[in-house]
Amino acid sequence: MKRRTKIVTTLGPATDNENALRELFIAGANVVRMNFSHGSADDHLKRTEMVRRVAKEIGHNVAILGDLQGPKIRIARFKNTKVEVKQGQPFVFDGKLENDAGNEKQVGIDYKELPNDCKVGDILLLDDGRLEFEVTAIDGSKVITEVIIGGQLSNNKGINLKGGGLSAPALTNKDMEDIKLAAQMGVDYLAVSFPRTAEDIRFAEKLARAAGSNAGIVAKIERAETVSCDETLDEIIKASSAVMVARGDLGVEIGDAELIGVQKKIIQRARALDRAVITATQMMESMITNAIPTRAEVFDVANAVLDGTDAVMLSAETAMGEHPIRVVEAMSRVCIGAERQKSTQISGHRVELQWTEIDETIAMAAMFAANHLSDIKAIVCLTESGSTPLLMSRIRSGMPIYALTRLKETKRKMALYRGVEAISFDPTVLARHDVNRLAVDELVKRDVVKEGDLILLTKGDHMGILGGTNALKILKVGKIV
Ligand code: PGA
Ligand code: MN
Repeated sequence: MKRRTKIVTTLGPATDNENALRELFIAGANVVRMNFSHGSADDHLKRTEMVRRVAKEIGHNVAILGDLQGPKIRIARFKNTKVEVKQGQPFVFDGKLENDAGNEKQVGIDYKELPNDCKVGDILLLDDGRLEFEVTAIDGSKVITEVIIGGQLSNNKGINLKGGGLSAPALTNKDMEDIKLAAQMGVDYLAVSFPRTAEDIRFAEKLARAAGSNAGIVAKIERAETVSCDETLDEIIKASSAVMVARGDLGVEIGDAELIGVQKKIIQRARALDRAVITATQMMESMITNAIPTRAEVFDVANAVLDGTDAVMLSAETAMGEHPIRVVEAMSRVCIGAERQKSTQISGHRVELQWTEIDETIAMAAMFAANHLSDIKAIVCLTESGSTPLLMSRIRSGMPIYALTRLKETKRKMALYRGVEAISFDPTVLARHDVNRLAVDELVKRDVVKEGDLILLTKGDHMGILGGTNALKILKVGKIV
């Protein structure tokens, strides 16, 4: 059985050479994430070139996701790199303290608005929630706290406010520069960190288009206020090409108990609104050092697959872990295991909905036929923009969707869609009467169908135009007319 769920792998020192990349792709990476929080412009350009070259060499379809750093709020530095803070002691975050002057009692902070964004009684979470501080007073540039959970605190650790509500705008000056870099790299997807509203996504998209990028914008859902209001969440999803359940920051802000339902809701809303969705962070965290995942991690990945995610993501596991290849193999194996569950194939066919678009109608009709006519072996979809295969893959099914396109950009974008395999195919240079047969030949060549099998084919009457899908055919391999 071929894996339907896609794997996003974060690149880093552990994958920074051609061999490692090649093995990563062979192990099953479909999308690579480049994190603009680390590395110079030059590093990113070199990595991009290497990814494209290696993917081409082995004939894999690999998309690049550029991930903007966003307004991640951090403390400044300590005189001696790190300190130990103890429960019950006072501790001050001070916007006016010099950058390197931190000690056991206080530390600087680069986000000058912090005293305005929090109030007495609020909880500040440091280092992904490992340490907790309760605000006891605000005094000018100082946020005075009491340590609730102590421990070691080192330079530049991140700060989250429990319950959310930090007012920092989504795009920093660095992000705006990085958008230009992303355009130069030709990334397929561009992730916006900490968006507050759909407007943040539209603004990032506008900057990306102005810089000459056609990247799909990915909204990272990681602020409490974006999941506490259904309308805000839906608006953000609609403004994006895909969303990420960014469980690292989101979990810190809303707490682990809330996260469970929220993951399911984000995935469900994204699919219902015809957008792709990535589930991210700590999926196989123990494999940063261990050679096999824990049972809990196996079930976490499986659970995201059962929830209907398009992709599962690896962060430090591949960027700086000891087993970057093994972790992709483990994730791939677990996805396939989860996909064997019948529930991943039972569709809600949107029968209760009224459709307005022709291509959506064709996509839904194709999925209905595919799931109900017993001899169908595959769906072939001739596509320009990739929107018909995306719509099809919003419907649960075990049926493989082969998306044939002449456009490289479209082909790479589809690397993220669950159950979709993209193939290069240009119908515009073929005689009309040859198109169906040659399209089906692509599947025969790959040994996925054989003579006598039934397949479904969708296309537009006028091939080579966007949004033109208006035809659905059922064909018998070897007897094509
Ligand atoms: P990050 O985003 O890895 O860039 O922080 C993902 C998350 O917060 O889960
Ligand atoms: Mn994050």
